[in-house]
Amino acid sequence: MQTCYIGLGSNLDDPRSQIARALAALAAHPSMELVCTSSYYGSKAVGPGEQPDFVNAVAELRTALEPLDLLHALQAIEQQQGRVRAVRWGARTLDLDILLYGDLQLSSSELTLPHPRLQERPFVVVPLAEIAPELTLPDGTCLDRLLDYASREDVWRLE
Ligand code: ATP
Ligand code: CA
Ligand code: CA
Repeated sequence: MQTCYIGLGSNLDDPRSQIARALAALAAHPSMELVCTSSYYGSKAVGPGEQPDFVNAVAELRTALEPLDLLHALQAIEQQQGRVRAVRWGARTLDLDILLYGDLQLSSSELTLPHPRLQERPFVVVPLAEIAPELTLPDGTCLDRLLDYASREDVWRLE
């Protein structure tokens, strides 16, 4: 079993309920154990064009799935929630990224671990630090150091 952190994001079709549905799907998955989830956060879209704000959260899972099988299981949940792959970084009903898979470092055409943009994204670092404040990344970076750089204007906790 590995401990994994999943980043969830949505900015279309009632984002809060998209995130809630995705968390329920993770909890219900036969090969995953949902350990805990962060609060919901709002963030500004950084992709192309004018886009609605995002709702983001991070979940901690335990799973026996291999990394690629986990990715495919997450992609199936994205599909169930009507994810359409159009423009890169465009608006979407649901995005599920593997942020961390234990301490595994991996780079292939389909999967990079840890997620390559984790460290630079306040909407990932802030919710991750809420549920795993003591976490050290596989490269030795302490999460609380990244928090110092995460601008609080870019991510806000939702009620
Ligand atoms: P970003 O990766 O910058 O967050 P995105 O989530 O919008 O962008 P997607 O269109 O959802 O990008 O995914 C593009 C591809 O990224 C996926 O098809 C998948 O193969 C690949 N990928 C590589 N590493 C990961 C990872 N750690 N988690 C999820 N997908 C990954
Ligand atoms: Ca993403
Ligand atoms: Ca993604």
